[in-house]
Amino acid sequence: MCGIVGYIGSRQAQSILTGGLRRLEYRGYDSAGIVTLSENGDATLLRAKGKVAELSSLTSKNSKVDGLGIGHTRWATHGAPSELNAHPHQAGDVYIVHNGIIENYKELKEEVSGHEFKSETDTEVLAALINSLYDSDTKLEDAVTQALQLTVGTYGVAVVSTRETGKIVVARQGSPLIIGVGSDEVLVASDASALIGHTTEAIYLNDGELAVCTANNVELRDMASQPISAKVEKIEVDMQAIQKQGYDHFLLKEIMEQPSTLRSTLNGRVIPEQHRAQLGGLNMTTDELRTVEHVVIIGCGTAYYAGLLAAYNLERLVEDLTIEVQVASEFRYRSFHLPKNSVALVVSQSGETADTLACLREIKRRGVKTLGVVNAVGSTIAREVDGGVYVHAGPEISVASTKAFTSQVAAMTIFGLQLAQAKGIGLKELDAYIEELAVLPDEIERILATKNDELKEVAETYATYEHALFLGRDTLFPVALEGALKLKEISYIQAEGYATGELKHGPIALIDDRFFEVMLIQDNWLFDKSLSGLAEVNARGGHVLAITDTQKEVDAETVVRIDTTLDLLAPLVMNVIQQLLAYHIAVIKGNDVDQPRNLAKSVTVE
Ligand code: GLU
Repeated sequence: MCGIVGYIGSRQAQSILTGGLRRLEYRGYDSAGIVTLSENGDATLLRAKGKVAELSSLTSKNSKVDGLGIGHTRWATHGAPSELNAHPHQAGDVYIVHNGIIENYKELKEEVSGHEFKSETDTEVLAALINSLYDSDTKLEDAVTQALQLTVGTYGVAVVSTRETGKIVVARQGSPLIIGVGSDEVLVASDASALIGHTTEAIYLNDGELAVCTANNVELRDMASQPISAKVEKIEVDMQAIQKQGYDHFLLKEIMEQPSTLRSTLNGRVIPEQHRAQLGGLNMTTDELRTVEHVVIIGCGTAYYAGLLAAYNLERLVEDLTIEVQVASEFRYRSFHLPKNSVALVVSQSGETADTLACLREIKRRGVKTLGVVNAVGSTIAREVDGGVYVHAGPEISVASTKAFTSQVAAMTIFGLQLAQAKGIGLKELDAYIEELAVLPDEIERILATKNDELKEVAETYATYEHALFLGRDTLFPVALEGALKLKEISYIQAEGYATGELKHGPIALIDDRFFEVMLIQDNWLFDKSLSGLAEVNARGGHVLAITDTQKEVDAETVVRIDTTLDLLAPLVMNVIQQLLAYHIAVIKGNDVDQPRNLAKSVTVE
């Protein structure tokens, strides 16, 4: 979740580490720390609760020229956010930073003797275990290997020792680690963005691998200490893309850049002149696509809602298809059965989401074809699927996902188009979807340009409420779920999404002056039914904010109208309005918009 950085070379590790941690801040964290080692083994350990800025003020008072160190931003799982629980953790000569969870830490803690525990973390147990196995003729990498053989759980770790000051040992099981190779220096990081500006050559560690990094060399091996040959890959992260570019928050920047990120998703894939849409990397022949009868879409949070929305499009496009959409954290533990001729779409912005990754592996084990719908290039899910699509939305820094949602829905819709083409069916819908996808970026661009100020004003009215209900029918139902999620994530207003038709089956009991209701109303065959839902809320004194594409009369407290030519994809435009609403409410409430409390980007723990 949070972050790991490490440096070995001839430059000052402290500033490279804090710089790297700052790049990882977007992932959400609660404390930070670094340790650097001098050549003769003097360790400088600095840790702070809160932001990397607190840590930086410690490093400016304790500046060291050491050329070796490791650093961490922690997202607490075991023990509250505090200086003592912050990483690195020390045991004897060993210092460690860790992302993930050591599940058997209690048993291991009973087995290690002679260490006085200072924190409540699972990580310190691992430090103590490594130290207990690290006697005078054992090398650090061997002690780490032995300790990890006894460990159950997920980890990305970086370990250094005051006795062997020329190396960093890193290992991974379920939590990403990348080794950046420079000239006479090596950086390690849990995320490529920490390597930007230092190197573009990197080795992606796989699960079950360990690496011994010195300034001039990286040696890879497996958990049985057998050597593995390292594959050096190019990392391409654009410096511009990870900066705010004049916006107050990454979230607003990411909402505003959706026209261009969506164009990247569609580029070369949607070709209206030829009435065609295609994805390049599915690794499936037309014959294989033709035989697909069942699609399961897997995701968590916003990616799950993107799947729910895409499912409506897929079933409209491909008549003989059955579709299910599953929450990864549940699906992974169920005794699920997938019929023959199934394909799984595995949706994750970061490509590292632990529950989604676990589903992917479980589905693969059952011999079902897996396709990734992933944003982060080179991520674990992208590397483990049989084929798939990069959504090309660019780095999403804000913890709350916006542009990735839009691109995920678009990419999965293209998949539906490709299936329909292969099966030679749904041709009428096919053209309509292709045409709407092609103009979607322009439509969103126009709406963003004309509606931002209006939503800022609307937000003033609704920021004072404690609760919100989001309601929509058909494709606007998943959009309502996503709208509620966005609002709760960043504004901390308790928000629920429901299908409008469900109103009288429960949620209508909630309506009172503490609530406002966002009603998504599309001027289509369900328009009158949506208006009935609206009337029911009004009759009970609701405070309705209607978001609609109709120019007809809508009897709501506030009406935000969008003027769009879209029909099938209008829900994506309405979602953009909800994004602006959530953003402006969060700003009015003075919240940390980009890094909301308790949340982390790239959820690599269960
Ligand atoms: N489980 C560890 C802790 O709570 C690491 C959490 C993380 O991934 O930052 O300290």
